[in-house]
Amino acid sequence: MPVFEFKFVVREHNIMTEDFLQFAWRTLSFKLQVLKTRNQEIIRIITPGVHNRDQGPDFLDARIRIGKVEWNGQVEIHLHGDEWYRHGHHRDPLYNNVILHVVYEKGKDQARRLDGTPIPELVLGPLLDPDVKSRYENLQKQMDEIPCRHLLNTVPTGILYSWYEVLFRERLMRKADDFRRETTHKTTDLHEAYFLALAGHFGGILNGELFRTLFRDLPYSVIRKNADKPEVLEAILLGKAGLLRREDFEDPYEINLKQEWLYQQKKYNLASPPAISLRYMRMRPAGFPDLRLAQLAVFLHQYPDPGIFIHPESWKGLLKQKFIPSNYWKTRHRIGQAEKAHTHVRPGKDFLTLLLMNVLLPLAYFLKSAHGKPLISSEEWNFIRMLPPEKNRITRLFEQSGLKAGSATEAQAQIQLYKQYCLNKKCLNCAIGKYCIGGGDINRDYLMEG
Ligand code: SF4
Repeated sequence: MPVFEFKFVVREHNIMTEDFLQFAWRTLSFKLQVLKTRNQEIIRIITPGVHNRDQGPDFLDARIRIGKVEWNGQVEIHLHGDEWYRHGHHRDPLYNNVILHVVYEKGKDQARRLDGTPIPELVLGPLLDPDVKSRYENLQKQMDEIPCRHLLNTVPTGILYSWYEVLFRERLMRKADDFRRETTHKTTDLHEAYFLALAGHFGGILNGELFRTLFRDLPYSVIRKNADKPEVLEAILLGKAGLLRREDFEDPYEINLKQEWLYQQKKYNLASPPAISLRYMRMRPAGFPDLRLAQLAVFLHQYPDPGIFIHPESWKGLLKQKFIPSNYWKTRHRIGQAEKAHTHVRPGKDFLTLLLMNVLLPLAYFLKSAHGKPLISSEEWNFIRMLPPEKNRITRLFEQSGLKAGSATEAQAQIQLYKQYCLNKKCLNCAIGKYCIGGGDINRDYLMEG
């Protein structure tokens, strides 16, 4: 029988997972009064142990009385008893200290350790708290994009805000990790990682990855050597992105840009861009890649050194900057386009706030951890908490469910929650899910009686 059949046990309307069994064990959401092993010995749980998310048994350091003997050791949990043998635990010394095998359904044979001694088994299926189980199953069955949507506005604000903080930090760490990964790449140093991250942001959802691909072989030393000449940076970026190939440029500015690119290409021996087409479809002109690259050139002119972003004053300064490219862009969104007056010459405040949240703060976080400095001080927290929230499909989803993000940090937390938890239905790992599912209540009277 293939192993995947044991990942879920489906009985009519009930969907059981090993994650839920672990949750039920951790929160003692089953009838404690009637616990007996397969061999009818009485079980008393003193502590369920510490959930182990690494290799080895599921819970460590549990204390359990079985019959007249008190044991201290590990607990392994499976949906079906036979999984003990199927996973080869009977041959694995890591499982030598398992004192209790907890299963949803009894297997054919009792589990045994490497030395052949039998492990007491507890069948939890019939003992589970039916309310907790059905709340969990309801969440798992929901097809909504946010399965607990109808319960969100019942979650106490204390739980919500401390969870938001955890989520925000998780997202920040994940993005900071992108810098770590990029800089461990043989050919990329911090400056190049910074440049590629900026290029990804200025390219947006549609062109970000294309920009990263096009600029990956552009040495940052070329940018740095020309950092005091924004028009040269613009020529290099547009040329490297393949936007200066046309033979029919008529405007002197366009002709000069192309000549500058050809000169710099030869000087630094830069490879010609591959034939990749940048995207313009379903995009507002203010986000066209040509204009974004002109803005990026100004940004690099003003901030050639990533190290500056370790200082929070630079975050505040950045939001006051305008990053206005040359006059040519006052009447065009694309290179070679007919002139037409428009007002979106510089990146908007929302764009810069997102740049700060998605690129520069993770960069600061990465730099601080590399220098062993405290990651985010309370003063820095206060500053970023005051930034306005971004509006996107995910934050709108939460807003429609009654949870409006009040700041940029809350919006980031909602994005993390949606992408890393809701989409994967990891409700048992989510503070909101734990609150909504509950747990432990079934034994309240029993525990109070002592
Ligand atoms: S992961 Fe959390 S927020 Fe998302 S659906 Fe589950 S309980 Fe709700």
